[in-house]
Amino acid sequence: MPTIVPTGVRSDDERSAPAARRPVAALDMVRAFLLVGAMVGSAAALGLITRHAFSVAFWPANAILAGMMLRAPHLSRSAGWAGAVTGFLLADLIGGQTPVLSGWFAAANVAGSLTVFLLLRRLGPRDLGLRRVHSVLRISVGLLPGSLVAAAIGAVMVVVQFHGSPTQTIMTWTASEIANYLIFLPAILTVRPPWQRERRATIAATARKAKPIWPILFLAASCALSVYCDGPGCMMFPMPALLLCALTYSVSTAALITMVLGSGYMVAIGLGMVDIGQDMAIPRMVVSIRIAVAFLALVPLTISSAMAVRDDLMAQLQRAADHDGLTGLLNRRAFEHRLHQRLDRGAGAEGLALLWLDLDHFKAINDRYGHPAGDAVLRAVAATIDASCRPEDLSARLGGEEFALAVVTSDATASAVVAERLREAIAALVVDWHGTAIRATASIGAFHLDRRPVDPPALLRGLDEALYRAKHGGRNRIEWLDASNLARQAA
Ligand code: GH3
Ligand code: MG
Ligand code: MG
Repeated sequence: MPTIVPTGVRSDDERSAPAARRPVAALDMVRAFLLVGAMVGSAAALGLITRHAFSVAFWPANAILAGMMLRAPHLSRSAGWAGAVTGFLLADLIGGQTPVLSGWFAAANVAGSLTVFLLLRRLGPRDLGLRRVHSVLRISVGLLPGSLVAAAIGAVMVVVQFHGSPTQTIMTWTASEIANYLIFLPAILTVRPPWQRERRATIAATARKAKPIWPILFLAASCALSVYCDGPGCMMFPMPALLLCALTYSVSTAALITMVLGSGYMVAIGLGMVDIGQDMAIPRMVVSIRIAVAFLALVPLTISSAMAVRDDLMAQLQRAADHDGLTGLLNRRAFEHRLHQRLDRGAGAEGLALLWLDLDHFKAINDRYGHPAGDAVLRAVAATIDASCRPEDLSARLGGEEFALAVVTSDATASAVVAERLREAIAALVVDWHGTAIRATASIGAFHLDRRPVDPPALLRGLDEALYRAKHGGRNRIEWLDASNLARQAA
């Protein structure tokens, strides 16, 4: 396999010093214990408080536990699960429950979440991110056994301690589990905190435009109408607005909206703000309402997943249209389009280093080592170019062995440093082609663009000329196009 030998990269031995690993592992265990314990404990406490206050089945703790373990697999070790048991236990004990009951309920909740975790873990990241058409249905299938496990364990204690009916307990408990999972888990699996979002502006991100707010306003108005009208069908009032939200917003936003709506309905029905006209003291009614609230989330989430599949495909197509297949850099058309946009806006407060590169005697590399070896060199040079760019910079393969960069710099001196570093980095590259070391150099035509307006065609002609001079000046060098030269070009 051809490999690139980059300069200044540490060896594997240096990276994995075993002496440093052991305390880090112990610290990770403590962190996992505390983090999971705190999250589960506070979610369980919130569930207990609202349960006493509103007599509703608002219980996000199990979904939070399963969701955390699925999203952060490093937490799903014994310390993390021990943290979860401790969190459940403490919440119940502080809430005034006996140690036996607290322990039993903690066992039921952890066993249910563990079952959900083990079943959903088998799904791939695309399903867990709700980015396949059947993702929500696949997830729902995994929720049922987990809900039944929690309900069956919990029911033993309810029957022994409170002499409740086992069938009734299992039915109401399972319905509550499914409703809570379907309401909370999609949001937990898909919403990314700001610090986890990708820094690099991807094609998908640039395609994402500012979203309109009116679908949310429509949803709020539908909810208000359902509170005003009451009756068994009032829960369906927000469905058109929910569908619109699913068609408008990202999966994570749609999941957040269904979470707020679902939990809002559970609380509103519990508080009697929404009167569905049924006797909520009848367990069958409770099961029916919980299932209805749970399934209210299924349709918008599935539509949102289907939209995400379409968006991903569009982004893939856009990427293929804008990028060079061999190197992954922008192609000439996309580069020129973005550069013109940048030039139309002006270079901004900062300047721009424009670099036109052509590899030296590249034909000789092909002739000597073969075309695939030449391709490996092109990829290695592209990786070097890419590594020298930040998200706000542009880099492209213009075609053949020609590349271009537009790097944001503070002044002409910084532009000169960028150009020289890149020339040196390419000259220092060693491509290991089946044991043979191949080296390459590049000639560069360069220009520092300050705030003065330029004529793009004259600029490109000038850069070409500068590159030509670099070739004739002996190659592996940089020739600068100065502004007066550019004025002559424009004239
Ligand atoms: P100079 O220093 O004057 O630029 O010489 P050069 O040999 O680099 O320039 P020339 O234009 O003569 O040759 C460019 C070569 O690049 C010829 C072509 O076969 C090769 N080439 C173009 N595209 C590809 C590609 O995708 N892969 C490979 N391996 N070679 C390519
Ligand atoms: Mg060329
Ligand atoms: Mg060349």
